Amino acid sequence: MSASLAGLKVFVRTFGCQMNESDSEHITGVLVQAGASRASGPEDADIVVVNTCAVRQKSEEKLYSYLGRLSRLKKKRPFILGLAGCVAQVRQAGLIEKLPFVDFVAGPDSTLDLPEIVGRAAEAPVVRTDFGRDWREIGAGATCRETPWSAFIPVMEGCDNFCAYCIVPFSRGREKFRPLPNILGEVRAAVEAGALELQILGQNVNSYRDPQSGIGFAGLLDAVTAAPGIEWVRFITSHPKNFGDDIIRAMAASPKVCPALHLPLQSGSTRVLERMNRGYTREDYLALVGRLKRSVPGLLLMTDVIVGFPGETEEDFEATCTLLREVGFSGIFSFRYSPRPLSAGAAIADDVPLEVKRRRLIALQSLQKTIQTEIYRSFVGQDLRILGTGPSPKGAGRFSGRTSGNLVVNFDASSDPSGRFVTVRITGSGPYSLHGALHKGADSDIIHRP
Ligand code: SF4
Repeated sequence: MSASLAGLKVFVRTFGCQMNESDSEHITGVLVQAGASRASGPEDADIVVVNTCAVRQKSEEKLYSYLGRLSRLKKKRPFILGLAGCVAQVRQAGLIEKLPFVDFVAGPDSTLDLPEIVGRAAEAPVVRTDFGRDWREIGAGATCRETPWSAFIPVMEGCDNFCAYCIVPFSRGREKFRPLPNILGEVRAAVEAGALELQILGQNVNSYRDPQSGIGFAGLLDAVTAAPGIEWVRFITSHPKNFGDDIIRAMAASPKVCPALHLPLQSGSTRVLERMNRGYTREDYLALVGRLKRSVPGLLLMTDVIVGFPGETEEDFEATCTLLREVGFSGIFSFRYSPRPLSAGAAIADDVPLEVKRRRLIALQSLQKTIQTEIYRSFVGQDLRILGTGPSPKGAGRFSGRTSGNLVVNFDASSDPSGRFVTVRITGSGPYSLHGALHKGADSDIIHRP
């Protein structure tokens, strides 16, 4: 029974990764399709959905402080409050016991049931956390994209790898792959709606296999890059052990595949990688990087690193630092290890003292800042093609965009270049962004369609 939500206003707050951002676009889409309209914030919403992230202890702590604020707001003005996403999936009914002001808990695979769940939650708390995403239903209509010119395209969900520190196999379940025709249908719809850039998403995106034809990720890339009207294609998150030469060939074969790859490393020590159950060695990772850089000109690599995994020695940590120097990543996401519930790591003694974790994270981030500063400086003086993303946090008259290498560029322009390709002359750089000025050139007239 799908409830009509006519006359109600919905607000969705997202924590976490691009997959959660994409899910939030579907959550909003499904509730708007059921009659709701969008609210600007929880202050004027009748339905508030918090899409949660469980990847680190810190992300869960951030959630509970945000929920504290919502509970105070709810006392002043009632609304239906629901939790979606990974914490909802992992903590389930325990969240209703712990947080009695929460009306429903819905796992990532319950998005399509949300109108019915909201309808029931007005009467009594609802918990819906069965796994089994119904890809067939996810189409253009059920997606409220935040940026129409850059579209998220989820192609798979879940993970079968069980890395010792990771909660994803428990919060997202086993790997489930979206049928290729369904994916290409959403690609066409996204292009018709103005998409110039596609971000192909999955927790283990390069393990993709079409459930009908058996076509793998390389075949998916070929099919997506063949779609007319698309300029840029990105994909995240890849696993080094699933990165076959066929995928490298598909990347090199199409100029639409951006020369920017996120390839999580986690540690530079083979000993720690084995304890993490990552399935590759330091040498495997470096060999893969070598093949990628030889095949994809100008490739920029980003990565994830965890410091302080149980048993990590100073030598292990130094091995991570030397690998960062050797590869030269254009950016890293780095974290202190924190045990996650249900993961194998939760049963291992967390024996690296907090102050040691802190010291190693600071040292790693300062090393990476030095490496990155050099990489960014190498673009000064060049004219780069940028996809405008909107006003820059750097202040009035400045706008931002991204290069195909996924570098942030801040630049002066007389009008907002959101959703347009422009050419920028790079005049300066910092460790985290480039800056420059709009360069009167050919691309400036490629405006966002329609
Ligand atoms: S590959 Fe490992 S880190 Fe990535 S989602 Fe799967 S279990 Fe987590």
